[in-house]
Amino acid sequence: MKDCLFCKIVKKEIPADIVYENENLLVFKDINPQAPVHVLAIPKRHIDSLNHVSTENQVLVGEIFSKIPEVAKKLEIDMTGYRVISNCGEDGLQTVPHLHFHILGKRKLRWPPG
Ligand code: AMP
Ligand code: ZN
Repeated sequence: MKDCLFCKIVKKEIPADIVYENENLLVFKDINPQAPVHVLAIPKRHIDSLNHVSTENQVLVGEIFSKIPEVAKKLEIDMTGYRVISNCGEDGLQTVPHLHFHILGKRKLRWPPG
């Protein structure tokens, strides 16, 4: 997607602090962290949001989840815990329309979210 911010990060047209990368996925630090550890896990292939997850891309989306334990260990939040969030659409306060999963940790998170 031409004008998509995260597609530009995937293409390395915009710099990002990458913590994990393979041929299908990218995990990078959020530019405006809401916790001491705050990274975004994205598929390299553009998917708009959770509303666009389907049987056609379920393997790719599943791969993101399969890598979370490894990423959590690397970020040293596996033992203390963390939260994974995907904001969807207007009420979910999604601001970047490229599917992403926030991984937040290294502080006691509150519940319910705002
Ligand atoms: P959301 O609001 O759920 O769509 O999440 C988008 C996230 O992307 C926000 O937490 C932003 O801080 C983050 N973000 C926006 N631009 C960048 C960027 N250039 N590099 C890293 N994170 C970004
Ligand atoms: Zn995109």
